[in-house]
Amino acid sequence: MDLQTNKPVYAESPGLCDTYGRCLNNLRISVTQRCNLNCFFCHREGENVFGQELTPKEIADIVKMACELGMTKVKITGGEPLLRGDIVEIVSRIVLHAEEVSLTTNGVLLEGKAEALRSAGLQRVNVSLHAMDPLTFKRVTGHEGLRQVERGIAAALENHLDPVKVNMVVLKGINDHEIHQMIDFTGHVGAILQLIEFQPVQNDNWNPWNRFHCDLSAIEGWLEEKAYKTQERVMHRRKKYYLKRNSGVACVEVVKPMHNSEFCRNCTRLRVTSDGKLKPCLLRNDNLVDAVTYVRGRKNLEGLEKAFRKVVTLREPYWKDVEAE
Ligand code: SAM
Repeated sequence: MDLQTNKPVYAESPGLCDTYGRCLNNLRISVTQRCNLNCFFCHREGENVFGQELTPKEIADIVKMACELGMTKVKITGGEPLLRGDIVEIVSRIVLHAEEVSLTTNGVLLEGKAEALRSAGLQRVNVSLHAMDPLTFKRVTGHEGLRQVERGIAAALENHLDPVKVNMVVLKGINDHEIHQMIDFTGHVGAILQLIEFQPVQNDNWNPWNRFHCDLSAIEGWLEEKAYKTQERVMHRRKKYYLKRNSGVACVEVVKPMHNSEFCRNCTRLRVTSDGKLKPCLLRNDNLVDAVTYVRGRKNLEGLEKAFRKVVTLREPYWKDVEAE
């Protein structure tokens, strides 16, 4: 962040900059739409059409091009990425190209895979855990499995997949009363807690957003007051609060995208759907650019590069500054 102009400094990716001056450095690639949980609020990374999954080789070709064009960080997502039998191979291919490779998982299968993922070169994980209470966990995910997720978090920490981040989507009347318990838990085990604002699910017959959306301002105000140290990340200008708790030092990051033009102004992320389309924004599906055509069958790297360059021209902040609308 340039402290004089209060604007982000985009030094690291000169290759792919959009017309709003945002240079991409962060690729979020979905490797499946299958999942072993059934979270009622899940946005499925903004995907609503499910095609054929990319192979490890196709994923690696897309990542390689992204990195050649200046991107450095790759996050693997889904669906549940650990359902892919070839997830270790996927990681081992991606790490050849990216500076940082991380993965977001619901943690159910993590205990058995953490060691192999670490050996393949995975640097860190986000584990989604929205409740500490087994009944709330079941209400949110539709499944049992809380203890498996806790063991997954322990395995991630043992295998140095850190910092381990615990993702909690805050849902009004469902789990918002568990925030303090979650702060204590993550502080105790040495993980970072990410409190995530519920974002709308697209094209659903039943959209639970109005009922369960929880404004995070109150909890953020409390964190502001209690924190002995606060930091701000360049990406999305997310705030990070450090607190002293009986359980140890807790670190809490707040992800507040809704109606947040600052969040979008500082978004340097590009998504890839599980069936190989470049996707500029979680909340839009009308500006996808095909990439799989160029890596499936006969490779066409020139076509793939053009696809990346095209998608950048289509990127625009979802929540724009009022004066820019
Ligand atoms: N299955 C993996 C997991 O649970 O982390 C990866 C996929 S999941 C879609 C990726 C992240 O998006 C998780 O942290 C999840 O909690 C979050 N997420 C899902 N639906 C959301 C929504 N409607 N609003 C905000 N975050 C959401």
